[in-house]
Order: sequence, then structure tokens, then C-alpha cells
Amino acid sequence: MTVRLSLLNAGQTEFTDTQLDELRAMFHGPLITPEDPGYDESRVTQNGMFDRHPGLIVRCSGTADVIDAVRVAGERDLLVAVRGGGHGIAGHSVCDNALMIDLSAMRGVWTNPAERIVRVQGGATWADVDREAQTFGLAVPGGVVSTTGVAGLTLGGGLGWLHRKYGLTCDNLIAAEVVTADGSLVRASGTENEELFWALRGGGGNFGVVAAFEFQAHPVGPVVMFGCAMYAAADAEEILPAWRDWTAGLPDEVTSRVLFWTMPATPLLPQEVHNRDVFIVAAVHAGSPDDGASAVRPIGRFGTPLADLSGPASFRDVQRNLDFMFPKGQLRSYWKSVTVNELGDDVLDVLLRRGLNRPHPRTLVHAPQMGGAVRRMGPADTAQGDRGAAYIVSFDGNWTDAVDNAASMNWVRDAFNEVQRLPSAAGTYLNFSGDRDLDSATRQAAFGRNLDRLVRTKRDFDPENRFRLNNNIQPASPS
Ligand code: FAD
Repeated sequence: MTVRLSLLNAGQTEFTDTQLDELRAMFHGPLITPEDPGYDESRVTQNGMFDRHPGLIVRCSGTADVIDAVRVAGERDLLVAVRGGGHGIAGHSVCDNALMIDLSAMRGVWTNPAERIVRVQGGATWADVDREAQTFGLAVPGGVVSTTGVAGLTLGGGLGWLHRKYGLTCDNLIAAEVVTADGSLVRASGTENEELFWALRGGGGNFGVVAAFEFQAHPVGPVVMFGCAMYAAADAEEILPAWRDWTAGLPDEVTSRVLFWTMPATPLLPQEVHNRDVFIVAAVHAGSPDDGASAVRPIGRFGTPLADLSGPASFRDVQRNLDFMFPKGQLRSYWKSVTVNELGDDVLDVLLRRGLNRPHPRTLVHAPQMGGAVRRMGPADTAQGDRGAAYIVSFDGNWTDAVDNAASMNWVRDAFNEVQRLPSAAGTYLNFSGDRDLDSATRQAAFGRNLDRLVRTKRDFDPENRFRLNNNIQPASPS
């Protein structure tokens, strides 16, 4: 068969059978064409909105395959999509007629317990990291759903249950091995390719394909104190301000968030919350469970919860306990978020109104508390410039039928706009963005004063913008 692939700037090119055979002989991992078994499975992303057909998929088995895939893309001027865990909300990791560089088979994780360093291949998920690191009582601050990819989450910042104690995921990156647009493998760290290293920590997938990450890990668990009380959603009117006041005095060990959601009828949850609209107050204490018990106790005392799931829990379970709400490829998603400098009554008003009027049971309105270690880094220390935010207000539109696309997306946009207009609105968190293309205002809101430096780094490492299917920073000008 002949495979057609898009060129970077315009037009298409073909790969003949003979050329495909040459590629098959070169790559160690499988080369998947639209006619191969496994093609459809390989192009499924977490977000069910996308039914895209890449021209060719290289399922890389290791760094050598990544290097050769990027070189082939350069020689033939191909448009490339890079896939880590496949959770990107905007669906950049799959694109019609592109060469998809798929790292999903590169999931190795190695822990060095003595130095508390965790080395992670570029296609690993947080479940992979937690499995290996927790064996040694260590954790790298990651996300709150274990099926999410380490790569995209880290490159876009990364917040979860530990960020107030140990910083964003990108703050814990100590080195990365990156295949840059010319097909070279470079190491970036505090002492090697420092500008690249700076840009990788928040600048997204703009600068190359990360074949491996090295993280500083921290002693966490294996048991932590988990706080999780589910109240009737209507109780949020009283609880939200109380939660805000409580979080103002929290030690950095505690990372808390609130969520408006609808709980499905599943044996994983107590019957009291089945099919109920709930307001969840949750937190993890990153220290010993004994210390954590008193710290998270107030979570169940803001009112009368329908269910209080608080208690000591294995850190790995905490990391996995929301997974069931996000079945792969089954939800259509569009998310937008605003970082806010304070949670004034005006912000609470929008949170409450929107939280109580979500367009679909799976649509989530949530607000994680920031601050702590995140704020102790300066805005120019990493590309992730928005350090001052006290909270993030995120509208995570999730629904199931295509017929609801427009209504759900408009609801998310309207809710986002409402918060963005308020005086305490600061920026936006791009890991929670469903927009395929960034407009200049969003790019500015996300990167702030770091944008010029990111553009210079982009020019140095990817002058042709080979890696453009992402929250793109163009090498030309910071418009
Ligand atoms: P992919 O779709 O594979 O990749 C997204 C983009 O990252 C790609 O388009 C590419 O540009 C880049 N990329 C991926 N792999 C590589 C690589 N190896 N080298 C270079 N670039 C690469 N974010 C948080 O901060 N905290 C959370 O708790 C959190 N929870 C989430 C839960 C769910 C259910 C979902 C869907 C998302 C969540 N996110 C969270 C957002 C998440 O961080 C982003 O969607 C992130 O992009 C996912 O990374 P991925 O590797 O899985 O995605």
C-alpha cells in the first residue's frame, strides 16, 4: 500500500511499499499503517472528541526509534504528532495524516532509592511511576488520575496531591533526554543545555521529544492521610466560604481541592452518593498519617456529609481512586481554567452557580488550592511563570454524546469568561486547556513575561516549528 502523509507547511507526500519496508527494517518498534491491525486502537485518545487518522504511527521501542522517527520527519518534512499518555485535552497527540511518534510502549521506570532519583521513559503514566517509586517509599508529585501521561503533564507544569509540599511536577525535574528537531539527542539539566531545561519546565512539547525524564523524588507514604467528604451539592453555599477560610491556614503538607460532580451508581462508592450531585472536599496530607489525621479532620465537619471517605489510605490507591471516572475514549471533553490570586466572594459566586448547574453529570467544576512550594519558585525560575495564584478554578466539560458538543463547550467558555473578568483572575493553566490553537491572549496569560525567552529557545531548538501540534510557541514572534 501507499501511505500519504502531510508535509509540515503544505501538501502531502507518499511512502511506497518499498519505502515502508525500509522503515520497518529500521525501527525496532512496530510501524503501524492505516491497514495494519491495531491502527484504530492506537489512534484512540483519552478525549473521545477526536476520531483522527494519522498517516503512519511509529510505536517507538526506545530512544533510537524516537531519533529515527524525528530524522525521517526532518528528511521528508513531515508534520508530526507526539504521543505520551494520550490524555491531552486538546487532542494534539493525534492528527489526520501526520506521522505519529507514539511513546506509549516506552514506560520503563527506574528508582535510585539512595539518591531518591526516579528515571522515567517518555511514554510512562503516573501509575507506572507510583508502582516503582512507592516500592521504596518515594513519590514524584504527579497528577490525580494515574492513567495520565508523565510527559505531557510534566512539560505543562503538573499539579496533583503533593504540589503544595513539593512543588509542581516540573519543579522536580532534574534532567531530561530530548530528541530535538534535527534528530540529535541532548541532555538538559541545571548544568547542560540550561535554556532548554528551563523551557521544558512548563513550556510544553515545543522543544523536542523527551525520551526520558529524571525526577527528584520525596519520601511519601506508603500510607498517607486522605480526606474526602461528599456533601449534598446544595450545601456548598455554606461550605465553600468555610473551606476557603480553612485553606488559608493550611500547612504545606496539605493539598486540598473542592469539586462539584455527580457520582455514578457504582459499588466503588457508598450508596448514599449514588446518582447524587455532590460537593466534594478532598485533601491529602503528605506527611505521616498520624500528623495528617488532625490536619484533615475538619474536612468531614463543614456540615453533614452524605459520605465521609476520609482515613489512612495507600498513596497508590489515592493516586488511582479517580481513574474510574475517566474511562479511556468514552468521554468527550473540553476544559478551561483560570488561575486566581484570591478566592473572593465574587469567584465563589461563579463557582457555586456553575457547580450547581453543570450541563452533564460528568462535567466537573473544581478548584485546587495552590501556593506553598509552588509559590516559593520565582516566576522566571522555570517556563511555568504563573506562581502567585492562590487557587485554580477549572471547568472540565465532560459529556458523552456528540449532539451535546456545542452546548457543553459553550458552557465551559461562558463559565471561564465569567471568572476571567473578575479582578483576581491571573492567568490560565494550559494542561487544563481543550483549545487546539492558542490565541495570543491565552499564550500571554499562560506564559506572561517568560514568553519572549520561550520564543528564543524555540528558535534555537525548533526553528521550523516541527513540533507544532501542542500549545504552540512559534519561533517567529511572540504574537
Ligand atoms: P498526550 O496527549 O500524549 O500529550 C499531550 C502533549 O504533550 C502532546 O501533544 C505533546 O505536545 C506533548 N508530549 C507528550 N509526550 C511527549 C514527549 N515524550 N516528549 C515531548 N512532548 C510530549 N494535569 C495536571 O497537571 N494535574 C492533574 O491532576 C491532571 N489530571 C488529568 C486527568 C485527566 C483524566 C486528564 C484527561 C488530564 C489531566 N491533566 C492533569 C492534564 C494533563 O496534564 C494534560 O492533558 C497532559 O497533556 C497529558 O499528558 P499525556 O502525555 O498523557 O498526553
